[in-house]
Amino acid sequence: MATLTLPGFVNAHSHAFQRALRGRTEGADFWGWRESMLDVAGGLSPDQVRSGYVQVYREMLAAGYRVVGEFHYLGLAEAHAAVEAAAEAGIEIVLLLTAYGRGGLERFRQGSAADYLSQLEEVRATGVRVGLAPHSVRACPRDWLEELGRYAAAERLPLHVHADEQPREIEECLAEHGLRPIELLAETGCLGPHATVVHATHADAHELDLLAEAGSRVCVCPTTEANLGDGFCPVEEICRRGIGICIGSDSNVRIDPLEELRELEGIARRRTGKRGVLSVSTLLCCGADEGAAALGVERWPDIEADLEHRSLAGVENVHAGLVFGASADVVIPS
Ligand SMILES: [Zn+2]
Repeated sequence: MATLTLPGFVNAHSHAFQRALRGRTEGADFWGWRESMLDVAGGLSPDQVRSGYVQVYREMLAAGYRVVGEFHYLGLAEAHAAVEAAAEAGIEIVLLLTAYGRGGLERFRQGSAADYLSQLEEVRATGVRVGLAPHSVRACPRDWLEELGRYAAAERLPLHVHADEQPREIEECLAEHGLRPIELLAETGCLGPHATVVHATHADAHELDLLAEAGSRVCVCPTTEANLGDGFCPVEEICRRGIGICIGSDSNVRIDPLEELRELEGIARRRTGKRGVLSVSTLLCCGADEGAAALGVERWPDIEADLEHRSLAGVENVHAGLVFGASADVVIPS
C-alpha cells in the first residue's frame, strides 16, 4: 500500500463531553445552545466522563489526532477521569484545567484563584501534563486573571483562554472593564508566548496587534464556530501579523482535522476573495506543530495516510489533495 507519513494532528481545544450534543439542533443561537450544553454538563458523573471520553478520544485517534488539549471544567474528580480515559484510548492528553470564578454551574467553580491553583497542582503532581485555563473574561474576575497570568509565566505552563467568540461577551467586558477581552488579557499579564486565545472570532485590529506583540497563538475551531453561528475568524489578519494558528475540535460536533484545516483556508478565501491565503504547508503546520507548541508538547507520534484511498486517486500534489479533497478516513488506523 502506498502511504504518506505525516506528523500526527494535534487537537488543541476539546470539550469531550459536548460530543453528546452532536446531532441535537435545539437552541436558536450560541446562548440557546449553551443552555443544552449546561444540561448535559450538569448530569455527568466521573464514571460517565471516563467511559464517554474513551469513545470520543478513540474517534479522535481514528481521525488522525495524536494529542488532545482537554479544556476541562466539570470538576476535579472528573479531571482525573478524563486523564484515565485518554490513557485507556491511547491519546496523549494535556489537561487544561479550567478556572471558573463566577457564572456557569456550581460544579465548574472554585472558591478562589488559590483554590484553583491547588487543584491544578494536585493534577500536576500525578505526572499529568497540565495547562492553566481561565475559562473566559466572563467567568474569571480581573484579580483571578492577574494571579493566573503570573503563575503560568513563573511556571512556564501553557495558558489557554476563550476570547471574542461572541459579540455579547465583548459588550459585557467593555461595560465591566472599559476594555475588550484580549485587551484585558494583555493588561492582566495573561498573554505571552505560552498563551493561546481560543476563537478570537471578533477580535479587532488592536487586539490582534496585542497578540502579535506578545507572541501568543490563536486556536481556531472552524466546524464548531460554524455550527454555533459564531462568525468568521479574521484568519488573514492573524496570518499577516505572523500570529501562529492551531486548531481544535472544540464541541466535537465534527472530528476531522482535515476539515478544520480546509475550513480555516475557506474562511480566509471567503473573506478576501483570494486563494492560497495560507499555503498547504502552513495549514498542515497549523494542524500539528502549532498545536503541539500551544500545548507545550515537543514529541508526538506520526500518522500515515492511505495514498490509494479513492479520494486521492489521480491527485498529483498529495498534500494539497489531503487538505482540500479528503476526509479523515484517509488516515490508516494504527
Ligand atoms: Zn471551547
